[in-house]
Amino acid sequence: MADTPFRPNGGRHHVVVIGAGFGGLNAVEKLKGADVDITLIDRQNHHLFQPMLYQVTTGIVSAGEVAPSTRQILRGQDNANFVNAEVTDINLEAKTVTAVSDDFTRTYGFDSLIVAAGAGQSYFGNDHFAEFAPGMKTLDDALELRSRIIGAFEKAELTDDPAERERLLSFIIVGAGPTGVELTGQIAELANRTLRDGFSNYGASSAKIYLLDGAPQVLPPFGKRLGRKAQRTLEKLGVDVRLNAMVTDVTADAVTYKHMKTEEEVTLEGATKIWSAGVSASPLGKMVADQAGVEVDRAGRVSVNPDLTVGEYSNVYVLGDMINLDRLPGVAQVALQTGAHAAKLIAAKVDEDSEQDGAEAFDYFDKGSMAIISRGNAVVKIGKTEFSGFPAWLAWLGLHVTYLVGFRNRALTLINWGVNAFSRNRGNMEITKQQRDARLALED
Ligand SMILES: Cc1cc2nc3c(=O)[nH]c(=O)nc-3n(C[C@H](O)[C@H](O)[C@H](O)COP(=O)(O)OP(=O)(O)OC[C@H]3O[C@@H](n4cnc5c(N)ncnc54)[C@H](O)[C@@H]3O)c2cc1C
Repeated sequence: MADTPFRPNGGRHHVVVIGAGFGGLNAVEKLKGADVDITLIDRQNHHLFQPMLYQVTTGIVSAGEVAPSTRQILRGQDNANFVNAEVTDINLEAKTVTAVSDDFTRTYGFDSLIVAAGAGQSYFGNDHFAEFAPGMKTLDDALELRSRIIGAFEKAELTDDPAERERLLSFIIVGAGPTGVELTGQIAELANRTLRDGFSNYGASSAKIYLLDGAPQVLPPFGKRLGRKAQRTLEKLGVDVRLNAMVTDVTADAVTYKHMKTEEEVTLEGATKIWSAGVSASPLGKMVADQAGVEVDRAGRVSVNPDLTVGEYSNVYVLGDMINLDRLPGVAQVALQTGAHAAKLIAAKVDEDSEQDGAEAFDYFDKGSMAIISRGNAVVKIGKTEFSGFPAWLAWLGLHVTYLVGFRNRALTLINWGVNAFSRNRGNMEITKQQRDARLALED
């Protein structure tokens, strides 16, 4: 006989939440006063503030500042329990979720389920590119990239061969969306400012930094005007921006692309390649969609009902980066607001005094988008209002420090930003061999 699924003692309505990212964690926090028990399951032990991940990659802030412990965040919430394990199975009919961590396996029974497992990197069917061009989605990714980037500058100091030095000092970023632009801008600042005269055998500002994208402009969601501004700012920093460039191959030493208009094929040599070109929703989305009889789109996102439930399952909610609804973008605000919405509907269901009857449609409030390009330079788009440069940079700083979780993290981040703004130093430039090699060693 199969083991009875685990449920907390007390017999209250049990909400299982998969994912402690923006969507899942916000749902849990919003259910604090509700008459429910919550089990939050995440394969990472931390809540990752992804919008600042590139600052970990480029040595501005430390990993802990953008990744506070989920257990500590929830310490004051008596109705929530955190499980650090990976969800491998969901059974909507049996109302169970199975989570695994090494030799630990447990099945949890739920009354309501929230699936907020986010999205991973997509290589559009070319997963082998990942070996040489890692993405930047997790803390592991950010630390590996930091070791590769700073390690390349260090190795360039050791070689006497000019061609090898040029290869080591060539950085190729694929994908000119916000992540690619932010990372490119910061690698340029590392080369031109932080590391400028740090080496005896070469000047770091001789580094070549390429930003490639298949689209005809950088930052497509920001529109043509801001896209052009961002491109000009990057070019002033010495970045070689190549648009209409569809990547066809990535090897240990090079990236090959085909120009979408001229059909010309170009190979760029470079030791460090970074992939920020596409995302694909967690495979848990397809697992849920197949059982609920609904579609997933090409990016694996689930077609949800207007109230965020799936198919006939009025107790199963999908959030954030995993949903395909009204062309909503994969951004933090969508995740936060869908989390709050699911929590509100669940709290109303268990509250006998609630006047909420029936499913309320999710209504997204677009607070705008912003991307940082370099120190003192960002772009902001709020509805029809667009601005850039220093005011946009200040707006970016203010907003991001407000949304960071925890007073300590906000204070430390402000100090690190101050150090970076007023001196050339960055406080988190350490690299380790383990960070650089662990991913491929583990895959082996
Ligand atoms: C580098 C980067 C920069 C970004 N910059 C911005 C920005 O500037 N502005 C903006 O609005 N948005 C930005 N985004 C997008 C934003 O971070 C996402 O839209 C948002 O995090 C989505 O929230 P989510 O809750 O859906 O998923 P996530 O925040 O990704 O959380 C998913 C959680 O699920 C967990 N998980 C996944 N699979 C499993 C499993 N099988 N079992 C257990 N746990 C699992 C993961 O560990 C993770 O903690 C950025 C994203 C990245 C990667």
